Amino acid sequence: MAKKVGIPQGLLFYDYYPLWKEFLNELGAEIVLSNKTNKSILDQGVSNCVDEACLPVKVFHGHVNELKDKVDYLFIPKFVSVYKKEFVCPKFLGLPEMVKNTIKDLPPIIDIEIDLRKSKYNVIKAVIKAGKYFNPNLFKISSAYKKALRYYEEYLKLLNQGIIPIEAIKMYNSTLKKNSSKQEKSLNIMVLGHSYNIYDEYTSMNLIKKLEQRKINVITPEMIDSNKARYYSSKLPKRMFWSFGRKIIGSAFTIIEEQKIDGIIFVSSFGCGIDSILIDIVQRKAKEKSIPFTLLTIDEHTGEAGVNTRIEAFTDMIKWREKNEDNIPTLG
Ligand code: SF4
Repeated sequence: MAKKVGIPQGLLFYDYYPLWKEFLNELGAEIVLSNKTNKSILDQGVSNCVDEACLPVKVFHGHVNELKDKVDYLFIPKFVSVYKKEFVCPKFLGLPEMVKNTIKDLPPIIDIEIDLRKSKYNVIKAVIKAGKYFNPNLFKISSAYKKALRYYEEYLKLLNQGIIPIEAIKMYNSTLKKNSSKQEKSLNIMVLGHSYNIYDEYTSMNLIKKLEQRKINVITPEMIDSNKARYYSSKLPKRMFWSFGRKIIGSAFTIIEEQKIDGIIFVSSFGCGIDSILIDIVQRKAKEKSIPFTLLTIDEHTGEAGVNTRIEAFTDMIKWREKNEDNIPTLG
């Protein structure tokens, strides 16, 4: 019988799920996903995680708690670095340990270490380690990973075409093709932030859908060419060594410099140290070009009514400004 591997729908799920899914499926594992974030998952996360953690880390704990009795293994890679000489937030590095120390009665955790700081061979070692849980044959592991990489590249192409990850995952699974005839939209708004903050429909209070319902064309960092984003982020006076920070800044700078953008909404988790720097950098750049900017800070107490009011006020102000005077400040 196929071994069941639980993948929590939290943190880097939208970044890497298609890669891991294809790889593990190829080796005969059955993937079990936690439900999408909901109130029960959030509550489980809050009560099974340290108070000081940021919201996405708490939510991740909720997903793990929900999955733990349904699977043979949990798949929680330990991310150290996803790009040469760069790092990701230290919370990812300690995630498997954090989960083990706070949630009881867990199944074995596949906690391979992803560390690209020195060489890509570290990742190959990690892939072999994960693959051996399901198949001892190195050739089979290697061909499963190669196939998964091809599948993952197709997924990234869908994101580049302007499809949000959750839709891209559904489309890829059902082999649907993108309908390229986009409806005419009134405004172009960039929604910036970490993938787990902007794409989690529950914690972001459905921000992207709400904007689309207002006939707004939403652009996110995943839709921006990664080479361009790296180029623009390299123009910062000091090198940004957080990979996800670099992606956020680079994609914001790309769109500010190269395309017509009517506004930027930055979604940030309360208390995130990395975000506090990114917000400041993006806000200054937006101000230079007179691009309206607003910040939505989320935590476990954020209320939907407040978010709705902020979105309405921000988008109405941009429309009003375009029709009337452009000297009305919409920053901050
Ligand atoms: S980058 Fe910020 S929001 Fe993301 S895990 Fe780290 S502290 Fe939390």
